[in-house]
Amino acid sequence: MKFIIATNNAKKLKELERILKPLGIDAVSAKEAGVNLGEVEETGTTFAENAFIKANAAFKATGMPAIADDSGLSVDALDGRPGVYSARYCGENATDEEKYTKLLEEMQGVPDEKRTAHFTSAICCILSDKEKIEVDGICNGTISHTPNGNGGFGYDPIFDCNGKSFAELTAEEKDKISHRGIALRKLQAELKNRFDK
Ligand code: IMP
Repeated sequence: MKFIIATNNAKKLKELERILKPLGIDAVSAKEAGVNLGEVEETGTTFAENAFIKANAAFKATGMPAIADDSGLSVDALDGRPGVYSARYCGENATDEEKYTKLLEEMQGVPDEKRTAHFTSAICCILSDKEKIEVDGICNGTISHTPNGNGGFGYDPIFDCNGKSFAELTAEEKDKISHRGIALRKLQAELKNRFDK
């Protein structure tokens, strides 16, 4: 089964491909499908709304089943920021390093017990005009004082979970506990439910 994945983030696409493959789903980027989705404006105020906006744009442009993830990091000491603005936290073209460095600066002086945070992934899968599946996943952790590890992407080097940063985990280790892994396994169960009938 071929699904179009509505993301311009190459690392996120890789993660989605890797988790979807064992589900028998061939993840195809918009580029591979020969369409240019351009920049879809994420005007929603929740992860779920933005996931729907992106999946719907890809579905409308290609007619193929479409999957989009909208995700981000919510930090308790920052009243939930950057949240849905995680990608744009430091301006449109900032690097991952610039974003997590800004966040670490904002967290300066915050004691260990107040450094709690969570990642959220909202996934929207549009199968047809009448059928969509929405799932989400949350992973709880803490914000470290310094970045650690070279793997992953985004805020991974400063997000600690079970004693390691996400950037210190192998891809498989991250998939097992990550917000996106959790959401995609829920999607797998929902898809199985529909296609096994
Ligand atoms: P989106 O493409 O609008 O969903 O942007 C999500 C942003 O949240 C990404 O650009 C990252 O900065 C951050 N993010 C989402 N998931 C992860 C993750 O698994 N690790 C690290 N950062 C993430």
